[in-house]
Formats: sequence, structure tokens, C-alpha cells
Amino acid sequence: MKLISINNKRMKKMTCAQMGGPCDHDITGNTPEEMAANGMKHLQETHPDIAAKMQTMSKEENDKWMADFKAKWDATPDSM
Ligand SMILES: [Zn+2]
Repeated sequence: MKLISINNKRMKKMTCAQMGGPCDHDITGNTPEEMAANGMKHLQETHPDIAAKMQTMSKEENDKWMADFKAKWDATPDSM
């Protein structure tokens, strides 16, 4: 009997450092929004000082961060 994988999700992987953080912890997600949320969760758990700083970003800074992040997302190959 054959098992057919129905997992078509395009999961990607980046490091904390690639997302602007100070360590090389792996962050994964199926969409840029999901990865950004996972990255923020990691920041809050591991680097609360940086998480606090990111939460004070203005709308413009936040939009710029998201645009940079989405460009990196597009440049990152699917990890599975
Ligand atoms: Zn980190």
C-alpha cells in the first residue's frame, strides 16, 4: 500500500538573524504572515528587548520591515 502525501504546503525556513534578530534560531512558516508571527513569538520568548522595540515601530517602519521581509521570503527557496 502506498501512502500519498497530501501536504502541498510551501513551507519556508529563515533564521532569526535573517528576520533582523540576534541569533540563528530557525523560524518556519507557510506564508510570510505566518512566519512573521512565528518570528515575533520567538522574539517575545527569547529576545523580549527586541520584541518591545519592534512593537514601538511606526506604521511606516513596520510597512518597510514587512516589505523587506516579503522580498527575503520570495528569495528563500521552499524548504520542503
Ligand atoms: Zn533569536
